[in-house]
Order: sequence, then C-alpha cells, then structure tokens
Amino acid sequence: MPKDISAILRAMKKAVQGSSVVLSKDPFMVLIATVLSQRTRDANTALATDQLFERYSTAGEIAAAPLADIRKLVRPAGFYKVKAKRVKEISARIVEKNGGVVPSDLESLVSLPGVGRKTANCVLVYGFGVEAIPVDVHVHRISNRVGLVKTASPEQTEAALEKAIPKKHWIELNHLMVKYGQAVCLPRNPKCMQCEIRRQCNYFLAKPHPM
Ligand code: SF4
Repeated sequence: MPKDISAILRAMKKAVQGSSVVLSKDPFMVLIATVLSQRTRDANTALATDQLFERYSTAGEIAAAPLADIRKLVRPAGFYKVKAKRVKEISARIVEKNGGVVPSDLESLVSLPGVGRKTANCVLVYGFGVEAIPVDVHVHRISNRVGLVKTASPEQTEAALEKAIPKKHWIELNHLMVKYGQAVCLPRNPKCMQCEIRRQCNYFLAKPHPM
C-alpha cells in the first residue's frame, strides 16, 4: 500500500507535541556529542558534552588536552576511556587534515577515526543544516515496521529512505523518528493502539488487531 509520508510525519510530530528539530551552529560540538551519545542516554550525553566544552571548545584544544582530563570530563557518557580516546583522535585528525575545521562533506567525515555514516549524517543535518538521513536504531526500526522500506541494515535503510522520502523532509526525519521511537513506537511492545499512523503501518496491519 502506498504511504502518505506527509501524513505520517505530521502524526509523529503531533504525538511528540510538535517537538521540532534544533539545528546547531557548531558542527564540531555536534560531532563530538554524537560520538559521546553512543550507547548512552541523552541526559548523560548532554552532561558529558557540557563538561567537555566548558573546558575545551575547539578541535585544537581537545587535540592538545591531556587524555586523563578528557576521560574525567566525558565520564558521564559511559565507555569513557574509549570515547575520550576517540574524541582526541578525531580532534587531532581535524587539526592535521583540515586546519581545525570540521569537514562538511560525507566522504571526509566518514574518513575520521571511528566516524560512521550515522554520525557523519548527524553532523550534516544538525551541524550544517544539510539534507541527509542519519539512520539510528529508531529510524531503522520504524521505517521497516511502517513499510517505508524493507531493509536488513541501517546502510540499506538510508539508501532506501533517500528514494522513498522527498528531500524536503530529510532534515526533520531523524529527529521525529527518534522522538517517536522513544515515546510510541518502542523497540518492544510498541503502543500501536495510541498510534495515529497504524492504518498505514504494515506491522500493525499484519496483526489481527481491532482498527
Ligand atoms: S502502529 Fe505500532 S508498529 Fe506501527 S508505527 Fe505505530 S507504534 Fe509503530
């Protein structure tokens, strides 16, 4: 069944109380925050990022900072030894290769140590305001459940969504699906009976639920 993308996104926006995407003017902070956000809660990421940027705010400063200090500052994000090393390596590479400025193209971003497509696309969207589709677990799960795509990996989902979703929606797509995935379309036991897009959702329609 063809999907009404605009209606789906409108319903998601309504369900998350109109929460809108917030774009940053600091791509470096977006990059570092996204690295710190892996496998932790948003509140922990925010605390670690704030602590780090209160002390060091540029790639040059973090590249030159003692690793022990970075570890201490990013500790709230969890896996802090690995993340501190990664943050320092990325900063050093940006200084070395790009004069301390975060590159604004996907190819250069994914060439940074430990930076994958999701992180790179987050930097493009949230740091530079460039249309891209960061695919995290929520975007991958919801897109497949609804039937916007039928894919086995986040990389395949990104490519399929680029074809399925008009570009004008790309900037807000990640934000909306993350919020919706945290509030309604949960990983386990999604709240389908509260979901206004259920009549367009393959996951719901495949089950013998009352409409
Ligand atoms: S109907 Fe259920 S599975 Fe489908 S999008 Fe809504 S909450 Fe998710």
